[in-house]
Amino acid sequence: MISVMNVQKQNNRIAEDLDSVVLEVLHSGKYILGDSVSRFEREFAEYCGVKYAIGVGNGTDALVIALKALGISEGDEVITAGMSFFATAEAIASVGATPVFVDCRKDTFLIDAELIEEKITSRTRAIIPVHLYGQCADMDRIKNICKNKNIKIIEDFAQAAGASYKGQRAGSMGDVGCTSFFPTKNLGCAGDGGMITTNDEAVYKNVLALRVHGSGNNGLFMYRMNNKLPEDTVFDFGNYLPKYFNFVLGYNSRLDAMQAAILSVKLKYLDEWNKRRTEIAKCYYEGINNRKVSLPYVEEENVHSYYVFPLIVEDRDKFREFLLSQGVETGVYFPVPLHLQKAFESLNYKEGDLPVAEFMASNVVVIPMYPELEQSEIEKVISAVNAYS
Ligand SMILES: *Cc1c(COP(=O)(O)O)cnc(C)c1O
Repeated sequence: MISVMNVQKQNNRIAEDLDSVVLEVLHSGKYILGDSVSRFEREFAEYCGVKYAIGVGNGTDALVIALKALGISEGDEVITAGMSFFATAEAIASVGATPVFVDCRKDTFLIDAELIEEKITSRTRAIIPVHLYGQCADMDRIKNICKNKNIKIIEDFAQAAGASYKGQRAGSMGDVGCTSFFPTKNLGCAGDGGMITTNDEAVYKNVLALRVHGSGNNGLFMYRMNNKLPEDTVFDFGNYLPKYFNFVLGYNSRLDAMQAAILSVKLKYLDEWNKRRTEIAKCYYEGINNRKVSLPYVEEENVHSYYVFPLIVEDRDKFREFLLSQGVETGVYFPVPLHLQKAFESLNYKEGDLPVAEFMASNVVVIPMYPELEQSEIEKVISAVNAYS
């Protein structure tokens, strides 16, 4: 059986390096923050082309903390795409704001920039474009829409580590970027992990505060900012550790030291792995030829990271069953569009509100995509797709 993703094969190839850094952290006795986290934060910031990268517990927390760091809360509206992993919208709701869903483009599957403007109200505080499946959203148009409106842009690049748009890396184009190191992502760790990227020093300090319970000097910074106090307002910690003084409500959400060490090893390979994904995609574009199957469209300005390779098919269940009978596993990302998730029923969306997101939910299917796929396996996938009738 050819699986959709395979983490084990990737880890096996670099097993010695992984084993040694994991043991090093284990025996160091230092597990929370520390050198391995700050080193990986520096490396990842440099990789993305941003000033700051802050490691957090997972990609969902990255979104929640980024929203909080921008001061978004109850009564605010945040626009996002109708098709994404649930966490994108969940994060908006969990800070008390209201998610406002915009439909996707039928060719790229990404948020349709043309439909954003009509959803903007006096309460709109941010837009979260999702670089879905590994392709960056239309950032120039989104930036233009937000310009002079005091609407922040938060990139959800959990599926697009290493992707780029007009030469800029995913995670470097908005006010804030959020990504996930969930094991199957383009850059994955051996557990949960996430990162926030930004060039904005105030956001950086707020995020540093929020990941450690709103405490310490960064907590004090955020408190001063929230209460519009002068920056030189002094606070006396006495003889105590600043970390025991809490100024705002935050979280316990830090990138684990062991995961950071693993990620430092893996980051060196990310470009090579993404390149291999692109080669596999090229084989799929050249080899797949079945009038019942459409292939994804990639904008010229984009370097896709091919987190997954999505196809559009009629009669998806039948297609999946057929491929399975040929020894090829498939997946669905995702079967329910965000606006129709039960958890959002109080928002009163109904079927038909976002026709493209709904179409994607019933017709997108992903085929095997990971850098270690063998050429013979790629050919087997192509033959199976072409044999479907
Ligand atoms: C994976 C993912 C997330 C959430 O990441 P976790 O680390 O699992 O919390 C958020 N958004 C998108 C688009 C994702 O694919």
